[in-house]
Amino acid sequence: MIQVATDRTRLGRHLLAASAALLALLGHTTASPSAQNSPADATQNRPFDSAQGGRTANYDIDVTLDPAARTLTGSELITWRNPGQIAAYSFRLHLYWNAFRNTNSTWLKQRRLAGDDPFASSPADDFGYTQVTYIARVNDDGSETDLTRDLQFASPDDQNTDDRSMAAAFLKDAVQPGGMLRLRVRWTGRFPRNFDRTGAIGRYFFASQWFPKIGAFDDGGWMAHQFFANSEFFADFGHYDVRLTVPAGWTVGATGVEQSRTDTGQGQTTHRYVQGDVHDFAWTTSPDFIEKRKQFDMPGRNPVQLRLLIQPEHEYLADRHFAGTEAGLKYYGEWYGTYPYPTLTIVDPPFQSESGGMEYPTIFTGGTRWLSPRHSNDPEYVVLHEAGHQFWYGMVANNEVQFAWLDEGINEYSDSRVQSIALQPNYLVQRFFGDFIPWQFRDIALQRATDTNWMNTYRRNPDRDSISVPTASLWPGTHQNMSYHKAALMLHTLERMHTWETMQRVLSIFFARWKFKHPRPQDFFATLNEVTGKDHAWFVEQVYNSSNTFDYAVDRLTSEAVTARGFMEATEGAEARATDGTPGTTPQALMFQEKKVEGQFRTTVVVRRLQAGQFPVDVLVTFSNGEQARESWDGRGRWAVFTFDRPVEAVTAQIDPERQLLLDTNFTNNSRTMTPAGPQAATKWSLRWMVWLQDLLMSATFLV
Ligand SMILES: [Zn+2]
Repeated sequence: MIQVATDRTRLGRHLLAASAALLALLGHTTASPSAQNSPADATQNRPFDSAQGGRTANYDIDVTLDPAARTLTGSELITWRNPGQIAAYSFRLHLYWNAFRNTNSTWLKQRRLAGDDPFASSPADDFGYTQVTYIARVNDDGSETDLTRDLQFASPDDQNTDDRSMAAAFLKDAVQPGGMLRLRVRWTGRFPRNFDRTGAIGRYFFASQWFPKIGAFDDGGWMAHQFFANSEFFADFGHYDVRLTVPAGWTVGATGVEQSRTDTGQGQTTHRYVQGDVHDFAWTTSPDFIEKRKQFDMPGRNPVQLRLLIQPEHEYLADRHFAGTEAGLKYYGEWYGTYPYPTLTIVDPPFQSESGGMEYPTIFTGGTRWLSPRHSNDPEYVVLHEAGHQFWYGMVANNEVQFAWLDEGINEYSDSRVQSIALQPNYLVQRFFGDFIPWQFRDIALQRATDTNWMNTYRRNPDRDSISVPTASLWPGTHQNMSYHKAALMLHTLERMHTWETMQRVLSIFFARWKFKHPRPQDFFATLNEVTGKDHAWFVEQVYNSSNTFDYAVDRLTSEAVTARGFMEATEGAEARATDGTPGTTPQALMFQEKKVEGQFRTTVVVRRLQAGQFPVDVLVTFSNGEQARESWDGRGRWAVFTFDRPVEAVTAQIDPERQLLLDTNFTNNSRTMTPAGPQAATKWSLRWMVWLQDLLMSATFLV
């Protein structure tokens, strides 16, 4: 996911919407173009071998949208296989739209903790819910055992009895390891006003977390969680066969491959989408989309049919949406592995839909703002980021409720690299007049190390949590700081320690080994240790487990003639006097002397660790003749002194000169010049000013 703001213009919207609806009607067929171009049944497309496990949670769903009432009426058959080593005596269902059901939901409580109260004055119309009307176990003979009265809301994470985002029921007969559970569920869902990437606005509907969904199960039992403000999601892989019934003429985008369109004869059309080996299913419908298609080709790989559903007023940005998506597929494809699915759908949400910047299997939302200047990364950045999620969230599929950084951090680190290669030049854009008018700073090119890794955002709240805290338990206001920014800076720091080629190997091996298997952070660090041949326990402790911040500084730099004044042993040949005044020479005779070693200078560098975080750093001194001296410091003490005797004076001293430790929150104190030369000082001051200015501008951009 990513935070985005969409534009505020509705100019010409209704006119364009009407023509889009007409076009959609004219283009109406009983078999979609994608169905003609793709395998007849996506079950043939199996990204991974069933021997690896997989296809644990399978869904057969019929759902009908009533746009006027903003409701979904659904019926599903869940076929679940127990993938664990222990029997399941119960099951858990996510009912995530209940996060929007009352003001005491866990989701809303956490939002309020972060200072945000989206339901503060909401009318009843804004609330949403998932209401199960019937649930039964389907027996082997096809009969159904009604469990509707057995289903109870459950709040294992925070014991919030007002929360309705999860339900559970005990089973009379346990599901043994490898055994099957079939559940028939009927429910009504009401779209909330657009919140947290789901909901409806006008004639645009985006349905995510919309169906009763079974939790994941492993050797420790059920891994199902309530809906938290920070929560993204976690589920097992399975096969989805979904029939979506919407008003005739409305465009549908969804996970998977469209198989057919069938008129119901009642002014509605049923769109059937099928996809195997995914862990979620999302869809959207609106009569206002303009649809564009393009094929993505990569040598040696199956083509991917790209489908863009874009708002009419953004149609001129269609090529840039494809460019961002293709950049993600190309570079992630080269670096990490193959995108195995035949389709990828890009949804451009309307203004204020709150559904932008979110990833789902084979479909994601971008986010376009009004007037996107060329050579800015808007809208490409969001699109690229969400396309990139197809590899990490989509295929590697770690538990995002607990370890979101593993997906978001790797993805942000990677998309930042893609931006630095494929989306250049990439200048800072600031928006004025209520976020309306963009201004591009052509002299501020966004830098990978600091800007697209979001250094400036991280630096504002670097220590409210550590990355290792389970994501749902992170302070809601700074979750992004940890899971995205600090994690990306951590990975980029590792790159600077080990080179990109090494990190690419680490990530490609991690991807190949763990895709479709829900890895944990320790699996990533084990791969890192293995590929680099180095133990990163200290790094994990300092950067990952700790909330400490880092700041190393050169505190003092002096370069003086090598001199000595005071009582010293008498030098040979000189008249010496013992300390008791007795004339003569003795080995103890002392004499007041002033010495100066001609042509020698002693350079002294005092370096300090200003924050709690510890990291080994180098100290580099440059002398007036251009020579350099480098020393290593383990960075553990609070300070260290380095001295150098040379025939020349020092000019500058730097700590961590290559800026290996990107997490250093103040890089401007990492160097010191011996005699502050006017122009250099000015340059440094202006750089500092620029950092601050960028910081301010980017925060303004980010928080809208
Ligand atoms: Zn993301």
